[in-house]
Amino acid sequence: MTDRFSPEIRAAIEAARADVCALHAYLPKSGLVAWTSGNVSARVPGADLMVIKPSGLEYEELTPASMVVCDLDGVLVEGDYKPSSDTGSHAYVYRHRPDVGGVVHTHSPYATAWSARGEAIPCVLTAIADEFGGDIPIGPFALIGDESIGAGIVETLAGSRSPAVLMRSHGVFTIGASARAAVKAAVMVEDAAHTVHLARVLGPVIPLDEADIKALNDRYTNVYGQPGRAETAKNGDS
Ligand SMILES: [Zn+2]
Repeated sequence: MTDRFSPEIRAAIEAARADVCALHAYLPKSGLVAWTSGNVSARVPGADLMVIKPSGLEYEELTPASMVVCDLDGVLVEGDYKPSSDTGSHAYVYRHRPDVGGVVHTHSPYATAWSARGEAIPCVLTAIADEFGGDIPIGPFALIGDESIGAGIVETLAGSRSPAVLMRSHGVFTIGASARAAVKAAVMVEDAAHTVHLARVLGPVIPLDEADIKALNDRYTNVYGQPGRAETAKNGDS
Protein backbone atom coordinates (compact mmCIF):
# COMPACT_ATOMS: atom_id res chain seq x y z
CA MET A 1 0.00 0.00 0.00
CA THR A 2 1.41 3.38 -0.92
CA ASP A 3 1.77 5.94 1.82
CA ARG A 4 -0.62 8.89 1.56
CA PHE A 5 2.17 11.12 2.87
CA SER A 6 5.50 12.09 1.29
CA PRO A 7 8.62 10.51 2.87
CA GLU A 8 9.41 13.88 4.53
CA ILE A 9 5.96 14.20 6.14
CA ARG A 10 5.99 10.52 7.12
CA ALA A 11 9.34 11.04 8.87
CA ALA A 12 7.99 14.15 10.63
CA ILE A 13 4.89 12.23 11.80
CA GLU A 14 6.92 9.34 13.18
CA ALA A 15 9.34 11.74 14.93
CA ALA A 16 6.38 13.60 16.50
CA ARG A 17 4.84 10.29 17.61
CA ALA A 18 8.06 9.25 19.36
CA ASP A 19 8.50 12.71 20.90
CA VAL A 20 4.91 13.02 22.17
CA CYS A 21 4.98 9.46 23.58
CA ALA A 22 8.26 10.08 25.44
CA LEU A 23 7.12 13.46 26.78
CA HIS A 24 4.01 11.92 28.37
CA ALA A 25 6.32 10.17 30.87
CA TYR A 26 7.06 13.57 32.48
CA LEU A 27 3.42 14.00 33.55
CA PRO A 28 3.13 11.11 36.06
CA LYS A 29 6.84 11.44 36.96
CA SER A 30 6.30 15.11 37.92
CA GLY A 31 3.08 14.40 39.85
CA LEU A 32 0.94 16.34 37.37
CA VAL A 33 -1.68 13.69 36.55
CA ALA A 34 -3.90 11.05 38.12
CA TRP A 35 -4.95 7.91 36.21
CA THR A 36 -5.41 8.82 32.50
CA SER A 37 -6.03 12.57 32.86
CA GLY A 38 -3.67 14.94 31.07
CA ASN A 39 -2.36 15.02 27.54
CA VAL A 40 0.45 16.27 25.33
CA SER A 41 0.24 17.12 21.64
CA ALA A 42 2.70 18.33 19.01
CA ARG A 43 2.28 20.01 15.66
CA VAL A 44 3.80 18.00 12.77
CA PRO A 45 6.25 20.43 11.12
CA GLY A 46 5.49 21.02 7.45
CA ALA A 47 1.94 19.62 7.56
CA ASP A 48 -1.48 20.70 8.85
CA LEU A 49 -1.38 17.82 11.31
CA MET A 50 -0.94 17.19 15.01
CA VAL A 51 -0.04 14.14 17.10
CA ILE A 52 -1.90 13.65 20.39
CA LYS A 53 -2.44 11.08 23.13
CA PRO A 54 -5.13 8.47 22.56
CA SER A 55 -8.17 8.75 24.83
CA GLY A 56 -8.30 6.60 27.97
CA LEU A 57 -5.01 4.70 27.64
CA GLU A 58 -2.89 4.42 30.77
CA TYR A 59 0.47 6.17 30.74
CA GLU A 60 2.40 2.88 30.98
CA GLU A 61 0.63 1.56 27.87
CA LEU A 62 1.57 4.47 25.60
CA THR A 63 3.82 3.69 22.64
CA PRO A 64 4.78 5.83 19.64
CA ALA A 65 2.49 3.65 17.49
CA SER A 66 -0.50 4.25 19.78
CA MET A 67 -0.25 8.05 19.37
CA VAL A 68 -3.02 9.47 17.20
CA VAL A 69 -2.61 11.77 14.17
CA CYS A 70 -5.35 14.37 13.58
CA ASP A 71 -5.77 17.28 11.25
CA LEU A 72 -5.99 20.83 12.60
CA ASP A 73 -9.79 20.53 12.79
CA GLY A 74 -9.28 17.68 15.25
CA VAL A 75 -10.43 15.02 12.77
CA LEU A 76 -8.71 11.62 13.05
CA VAL A 77 -6.26 11.08 10.19
CA GLU A 78 -4.31 8.03 11.36
CA GLY A 79 -4.29 5.85 14.46
CA ASP A 80 -5.81 2.78 16.07
CA TYR A 81 -7.45 4.69 18.94
CA LYS A 82 -9.86 7.52 19.52
CA PRO A 83 -7.98 10.79 20.11
CA SER A 84 -8.03 12.53 23.50
CA SER A 85 -11.31 14.28 24.34
CA ASP A 86 -9.34 17.57 24.38
CA THR A 87 -8.28 17.19 20.73
CA GLY A 88 -10.67 19.86 19.41
CA SER A 89 -9.20 22.41 21.78
CA HIS A 90 -5.58 21.53 20.96
CA ALA A 91 -6.47 21.81 17.26
CA TYR A 92 -8.07 25.22 17.80
CA VAL A 93 -4.85 26.46 19.42
CA TYR A 94 -2.69 25.22 16.50
CA ARG A 95 -5.04 26.85 13.96
CA HIS A 96 -5.01 30.21 15.70
CA ARG A 97 -1.39 30.28 16.94
CA PRO A 98 1.06 29.39 14.16
CA ASP A 99 3.91 30.02 16.64
CA VAL A 100 2.75 27.11 18.84
CA GLY A 101 4.37 23.71 18.29
CA GLY A 102 3.11 21.93 21.41
CA VAL A 103 0.17 21.97 23.83
CA VAL A 104 -0.14 20.29 27.24
CA HIS A 105 -3.10 19.83 29.56
CA THR A 106 -3.07 18.62 33.16
CA HIS A 107 -5.15 18.78 36.32
CA SER A 108 -2.01 19.16 38.45
CA PRO A 109 -3.25 19.63 42.02
CA TYR A 110 -1.87 22.96 43.22
CA ALA A 111 -2.42 24.82 39.95
CA THR A 112 -5.89 23.31 39.60
CA ALA A 113 -6.72 24.44 43.15
CA TRP A 114 -6.07 28.03 41.96
CA SER A 115 -8.30 27.41 38.93
CA ALA A 116 -11.05 26.12 41.23
CA ARG A 117 -10.88 29.49 42.99
CA GLY A 118 -10.85 31.36 39.67
CA GLU A 119 -7.74 33.13 40.84
CA ALA A 120 -4.61 33.97 38.82
CA ILE A 121 -1.27 32.97 40.39
CA PRO A 122 0.36 36.31 41.20
CA CYS A 123 3.86 37.08 39.96
CA VAL A 124 5.61 37.20 43.32
CA LEU A 125 8.83 35.29 42.56
CA THR A 126 11.67 35.80 40.10
CA ALA A 127 11.06 32.28 38.76
CA ILE A 128 7.47 33.25 37.86
CA ALA A 129 8.68 36.44 36.16
CA ASP A 130 11.28 34.40 34.25
CA GLU A 131 8.98 31.71 33.01
CA PHE A 132 5.58 33.43 32.78
CA GLY A 133 6.41 37.13 32.49
CA GLY A 134 3.63 38.11 34.90
CA ASP A 135 0.65 36.59 36.67
CA ILE A 136 -0.40 33.15 35.42
CA PRO A 137 -3.85 34.07 34.12
CA ILE A 138 -7.28 32.53 34.62
CA GLY A 139 -9.26 31.61 31.51
CA PRO A 140 -13.03 31.32 31.22
CA PHE A 141 -15.09 28.32 32.25
CA ALA A 142 -15.73 26.12 29.19
CA LEU A 143 -17.34 22.73 28.66
CA ILE A 144 -15.19 19.78 27.53
CA GLY A 145 -15.54 18.10 24.14
CA ASP A 146 -15.60 20.84 21.51
CA GLU A 147 -13.33 23.81 20.79
CA SER A 148 -14.58 26.14 23.56
CA ILE A 149 -11.58 25.46 25.77
CA GLY A 150 -9.26 26.19 22.83
CA ALA A 151 -11.01 29.51 22.23
CA GLY A 152 -10.62 30.38 25.93
CA ILE A 153 -6.91 29.51 25.84
CA VAL A 154 -6.21 31.61 22.72
CA GLU A 155 -8.26 34.56 23.99
CA THR A 156 -6.64 34.56 27.44
CA LEU A 157 -3.06 34.19 26.19
CA ALA A 158 -3.40 36.79 23.40
CA GLY A 159 -0.94 39.55 24.24
CA SER A 160 0.23 37.73 27.40
CA ARG A 161 3.80 36.60 27.99
CA SER A 162 2.55 33.57 29.90
CA PRO A 163 2.75 30.16 28.17
CA ALA A 164 0.18 28.86 30.69
CA VAL A 165 -3.45 29.51 31.48
CA LEU A 166 -5.54 28.16 34.35
CA MET A 167 -8.92 27.37 32.81
CA ARG A 168 -11.48 28.18 35.49
CA SER A 169 -12.83 25.19 37.43
CA HIS A 170 -10.83 22.82 35.20
CA GLY A 171 -7.03 22.88 35.13
CA VAL A 172 -3.84 23.87 33.34
CA PHE A 173 -3.23 24.35 29.61
CA THR A 174 0.24 25.30 28.41
CA ILE A 175 1.67 26.16 25.02
CA GLY A 176 5.24 26.17 23.69
CA ALA A 177 7.30 26.50 20.55
CA SER A 178 7.78 22.75 20.98
CA ALA A 179 5.89 20.07 22.90
CA ARG A 180 8.88 19.84 25.22
CA ALA A 181 8.65 23.57 26.05
CA ALA A 182 4.91 23.16 26.78
CA VAL A 183 5.67 20.21 29.12
CA LYS A 184 8.28 22.32 30.89
CA ALA A 185 5.72 25.12 31.35
CA ALA A 186 3.25 22.58 32.82
CA VAL A 187 5.88 21.44 35.34
CA MET A 188 6.76 25.04 36.22
CA VAL A 189 3.12 26.10 36.68
CA GLU A 190 2.63 23.42 39.31
CA ASP A 191 5.88 24.42 41.03
CA ALA A 192 4.80 28.09 41.12
CA ALA A 193 1.26 27.23 42.29
CA HIS A 194 2.66 25.10 45.12
CA THR A 195 5.21 27.67 46.33
CA VAL A 196 2.85 30.66 46.18
CA HIS A 197 0.24 28.60 48.02
CA LEU A 198 2.79 27.90 50.81
CA ALA A 199 3.74 31.59 50.91
CA ARG A 200 0.11 32.65 51.25
CA VAL A 201 -0.40 30.23 54.13
CA LEU A 202 2.37 32.17 55.89
CA GLY A 203 0.81 35.58 55.11
CA PRO A 204 0.40 38.18 52.38
CA VAL A 205 2.72 37.92 49.36
CA ILE A 206 4.64 40.82 47.82
CA PRO A 207 4.02 41.56 44.13
CA LEU A 208 7.01 42.27 41.89
CA ASP A 209 7.24 45.59 40.03
CA GLU A 210 6.27 45.42 36.35
CA ALA A 211 9.68 46.84 35.30
CA ASP A 212 11.48 44.09 37.26
CA ILE A 213 9.18 41.41 35.82
CA LYS A 214 9.92 42.60 32.30
CA ALA A 215 13.70 42.75 32.92
CA LEU A 216 13.72 39.25 34.42
CA ASN A 217 11.58 37.83 31.62
CA ASP A 218 13.70 39.49 28.89
CA ARG A 219 16.92 38.16 30.38
CA TYR A 220 15.50 34.66 30.83
CA THR A 221 13.93 34.54 27.38
CA ASN A 222 16.87 35.98 25.47
CA VAL A 223 20.05 35.36 27.43
CA TYR A 224 19.74 32.57 29.97
CA GLY A 225 20.57 28.92 29.31
CA GLN A 226 22.87 26.93 27.08
CA PRO A 227 22.79 28.00 23.42
CA GLY A 228 19.93 26.15 21.73
CA ARG A 229 18.80 24.57 24.97
CA ALA A 230 17.03 27.45 26.71
CA GLU A 231 13.99 25.30 27.47
CA THR A 232 16.04 22.95 29.64
CA ALA A 233 16.64 25.63 32.28
CA LYS A 234 15.04 25.01 35.67
CA ASN A 235 14.94 28.65 36.66
CA GLY A 236 16.96 31.83 36.37
CA ASP A 237 19.08 31.31 39.47
CA SER A 238 21.39 28.53 38.43
ZN1 LIG B 1 -9.10 18.33 31.72
